[in-house]
Amino acid sequence: MSIDPVRKRERMVREQIEARGVRDPEVLRAMRTVPRHRFVQEALAAQAYDDRPQPLGFGQTISQPYIVAFMTELLELKPGMKVLEIGTGSGYQAAVLAEMGADVFTVERVKELHQQARDRLARLKYLFVKLKLDDGTLGWPEEAPFDRIIVTAGGPEVPRPLVDQLADDGILVIPVGPAKRTQMLKVVRKERGLVRAEDRLGVMFVDLVGKHGWEE
Ligand code: SAH
Repeated sequence: MSIDPVRKRERMVREQIEARGVRDPEVLRAMRTVPRHRFVQEALAAQAYDDRPQPLGFGQTISQPYIVAFMTELLELKPGMKVLEIGTGSGYQAAVLAEMGADVFTVERVKELHQQARDRLARLKYLFVKLKLDDGTLGWPEEAPFDRIIVTAGGPEVPRPLVDQLADDGILVIPVGPAKRTQMLKVVRKERGLVRAEDRLGVMFVDLVGKHGWEE
């Protein structure tokens, strides 16, 4: 890359993330640390820190840096929490969560992306992230309950299995709404068994495809 990636990340955090109101110091630290340019195809490394999503292949994208930071802040993470991510993609969001000390479980349905993310996370020494190839709308029942769940693809509704696998006092962050149009980023909380959802931001994500998502 032409310019030092550390400086590019500093600038990304300052101009795209802090400037838009993300304040959690641990989120900012993780966004300054994870080498985003290593999560995109080599030919795109120079633009990895731009203020937009990046193509991953297979019709998928890695979210804009601000959206990754904003969703991570909404999780109110503490170190040691057990976190489930649906939609591994490049593994970037998983690395951000791992960088914050979370115990990360991530599910991807596209085999090539799953394998690439597994190899990439190992290469970058994110050795404790657990990855699974499966339909993430089913969650990861053997590992439930999860303190936090983050879904990085947009579905028609909140998949029931994910709500069931959310721990008490848990938080689930998920985009819900029509395919290929603006969806609503929702924060779903479970408190003493009671589930309530709040709308936070209009967003556009790739489709969540699966049993409790869109049809293939
Ligand atoms: N979090 C990723 C970006 C995700 S893009 C990153 O940081 O790079 C959305 C991903 O969700 C795509 O890779 C897509 O294949 C995956 N996906 C869509 N439906 C899914 C499902 N039901 N289960 C698991 N992964 C799914």
